Amino acid sequence: AVSAASGLEKLRHRARSLAEEVLAPRAASIDTTEIYPWENCFALRDNGFMGVTIPEVYGGGGYGYKEAVVVIEEIAKACGVSGRIVVEANMGAVGAVMAYGSEKQKRLAAELVLSGDKPAICITEPESGSAATEMTTRADRVGNSYVINGKKHWITGGGVSRLHLIFARVYENDEPQGIAGFLVVRGEPGAEGLSVGRREPTMGLRGIPETEIHFKDLVVPAEMMLQPPSGLHKGFADLMMAYNGQRVGAAAVALGLAAGAYEQALTFSQQREQFGRPICEFQGLQWMLADMSVQISAARALINEAVAGDGFPDKVKAAQAKLFTSEMAVNVTNNALQMHGAAGYSRRNPVERMVRDARMFTIGGGTAQVLRNVIASELLGRKFPQTRDGYLSYSTD
Ligand code: FAD
Repeated sequence: AVSAASGLEKLRHRARSLAEEVLAPRAASIDTTEIYPWENCFALRDNGFMGVTIPEVYGGGGYGYKEAVVVIEEIAKACGVSGRIVVEANMGAVGAVMAYGSEKQKRLAAELVLSGDKPAICITEPESGSAATEMTTRADRVGNSYVINGKKHWITGGGVSRLHLIFARVYENDEPQGIAGFLVVRGEPGAEGLSVGRREPTMGLRGIPETEIHFKDLVVPAEMMLQPPSGLHKGFADLMMAYNGQRVGAAAVALGLAAGAYEQALTFSQQREQFGRPICEFQGLQWMLADMSVQISAARALINEAVAGDGFPDKVKAAQAKLFTSEMAVNVTNNALQMHGAAGYSRRNPVERMVRDARMFTIGGGTAQVLRNVIASELLGRKFPQTRDGYLSYSTD
């Protein structure tokens, strides 16, 4: 246990050095130019942080989510955008492929991620956000292929990601079979049916494009369907198990942003003087610092609990970690800005960016309200239908 702990500390130290020396100086310009930071992807790749969780046989780091969240937190302290890149290069699509994919799919995903690609995961549609299972993108079986038609939006990495995990409703002879994932590499011959639509101008995390993705008669060989272990009818539930990893990863980015902003506030409060004394001598600010540090530690503990086991994090623990950490990060970054006074409101100060970056995490990847539904459902031992007529076909089985 001692050597495992020191291994983790070494990893943290390596991530922190890269974050402080290479990523932090670039973070402001990534935010203002809104240009995807390829140079950061390559720096992350060269340091082994893309594919931390990919098994060694496929050339990855062979670590678990325990290690990945430590890397993510350290990277996100300096640059939220880079933190999100590390999430998607270790969890989400790549996590699902490594758990459920065929040999060929695993090799494909590993090769792309280890060369610096951040995969995209395509679930959300204009008419199906929180109600994700109401997606209408369809994959029709034709011979030995599927033909995908539909539209996604708010896809992180649209136009920069190569590997796409596309969630679609599968039909055979027009009969619905359930939801499955399909792997498509943008830009490869045969993938012409996948095109990138409008980019959304976002509040924060501006260095990663959020775009629409359109599918027009996109032909995907059947061998590129990600087969959920319990069959297509329960396909969505299985794929969402993998998504619990992504949720904890998102929580780790929010944690890094909060911890980064807190550290800035701690330093600033000891340097800035008013009324002839450092502002940290005012009890009002001391209590803010104390509360921030407690909230950060509590969030880290929930994240560590969610990743304590092997395999994907438990659904409820992942929901608890993301819910608490995302709301904590909104508050803590905001209080860190407050402690800076006007200096914090200036775009010259990284805390201003951290406030905007943190705001996303109570929305993307399951809103705070939907995560509360997940937790309540577990507490009460029942799944509550959310549609108006859901109770008409309600069963407690
Ligand atoms: P809606 O579902 O329309 O919700 C609107 C409001 O209603 C929210 O407050 C919500 O909490 C509330 N609400 C809805 N249903 C309920 C309910 N049953 N009970 C209580 N309250 C409810 N998606 C992807 O597929 N891939 C990505 O890479 C991706 N990246 C994203 C990146 C960013 C920056 C953002 C902001 C979003 C991203 N998303 C992505 C989409 C994200 O997952 C959705 O925004 C999210 O699931 C919520 O859907 P919605 O925005 O349509 O909100």
